[in-house]
Amino acid sequence: QAPNPRGHYQFRVIVLGDAAVGKSSLLRCFAEGTGGEDVGTATPCPIIGVEFYSRTVPLSPAGKAKLQLWDTAGQERFRSITRSFYRSVVGVLLVFDLTNRASFEHIPEWYCEAVGDCSPVFMLVGHKCDLVAGRVVSAEEAGDLAATLGKAFVETSVRGNLNVELAFQTLAGDIQRAL
Ligand code: GDP
Repeated sequence: QAPNPRGHYQFRVIVLGDAAVGKSSLLRCFAEGTGGEDVGTATPCPIIGVEFYSRTVPLSPAGKAKLQLWDTAGQERFRSITRSFYRSVVGVLLVFDLTNRASFEHIPEWYCEAVGDCSPVFMLVGHKCDLVAGRVVSAEEAGDLAATLGKAFVETSVRGNLNVELAFQTLAGDIQRAL
């Protein structure tokens, strides 16, 4: 994971969580970005059932990281294949839906799944924070779980692009510091 001579890193990141929590939407929202030099790309990779996105983010205080983002569509079906990706993954977004209690309760399982083969940097993401009325997981209990896992927690939504940049940029900074 050494940077090139211009201080540019490449980090492979995977997004995990139950079906329909919003993983693809989150990735697409981030990869589409805000334009400028950080324009992302989305490249379907149908053979292995994994969609691939990439986008470059600035690092603080200097440098850049190109995030290679893997969206494991249909994890159940492709789990054996995605396991081989975990070995080269340096960052994991653990995503649950703030309006879906079961998706929150399954987070420790997703964590165990990813922590086995490598020691990536994790971030806990409570998604769909725009759905205020349907919310069933409080910020406090999500924060408690993040603290138990020793991870950062952020709430996101693709409606209005709330904290989407923040989630990925925080993860990139955490990865850099962990190198
Ligand atoms: P995935 O199966 O985890 O990849 O989930 P998808 O990205 O396919 O999203 C599942 C559903 O949640 C879709 O109907 C999305 O439109 C919806 N969704 C995704 N993100 C958000 C969000 O931030 N807010 C709301 N209200 N709905 C969302």
